[in-house]
Amino acid sequence: MPVKYKQYYQFENFPNLDLLCAFTTRILGNMSLFYGDRSNALENRKNFLKGLGIDYRDLVCAKQVHGSLTRYIREIDSGKGALSYDSAIADTDALITDKKNVPLSIFTADCLSVFLYDAQTRSIGLVHAGWRSSKENATVKTVQLMQEKFNAKVEDLYVGFGPAIRDCCYEVGGEFADFPAPEYLIKRDSRYYLDLIGINKKQLLTSGIKNKNIFDSKICTACRNEEFFSYRKEGIGCGRMMSIMMLR
Ligand SMILES: [Zn+2]
Repeated sequence: MPVKYKQYYQFENFPNLDLLCAFTTRILGNMSLFYGDRSNALENRKNFLKGLGIDYRDLVCAKQVHGSLTRYIREIDSGKGALSYDSAIADTDALITDKKNVPLSIFTADCLSVFLYDAQTRSIGLVHAGWRSSKENATVKTVQLMQEKFNAKVEDLYVGFGPAIRDCCYEVGGEFADFPAPEYLIKRDSRYYLDLIGINKKQLLTSGIKNKNIFDSKICTACRNEEFFSYRKEGIGCGRMMSIMMLR
């Protein structure tokens, strides 16, 4: 389980002290330069990152599109999307790197953030996994790129599931009729609820990740809307939390 600090959470199950692996709460404000009230977003990022010893101008951000493309990030990419949405990396929902001091970020408010870490090759991955990306197996595709680029081995990989809307609250409709994993559509009182975390876990286990290496925050953004942004609860105008990973 991630450990709560004053206003953010950090995964501390991963076996390395030189790794930052954290997500913010709404108490730290909106972190997105695209969604929600953006007037303080840069200041919010600056305040949060300063406490972690990171220059907010170095942050690497993506223009998330609910797809399944992963980008390999190097030092030269530092700062893309840090000061403006326009400068963020286009058409990307997952970032990987093996470089130190390159902070990767993903922004969510109900979608699942997936943290990937390989202690053997010292490489990381961070995925924005909503239902569309999960349908396209985005998390496993990111694992595959880590295998390809870093020679990471699935049996060595650690996984963290951040906050997300869970099957207690994630009611879905007809658009899920052809969903490829119907066992994760849970019927209650003639309504359907999606288990986004279950889908990602199943995909990862099938690809060879060890169950004991998977850690789940178990946080439902809708149940705990006072602490986390939830698009389903708040609708348009909802802010975004930041998930961040960095090798030190
Ligand atoms: Zn819930």
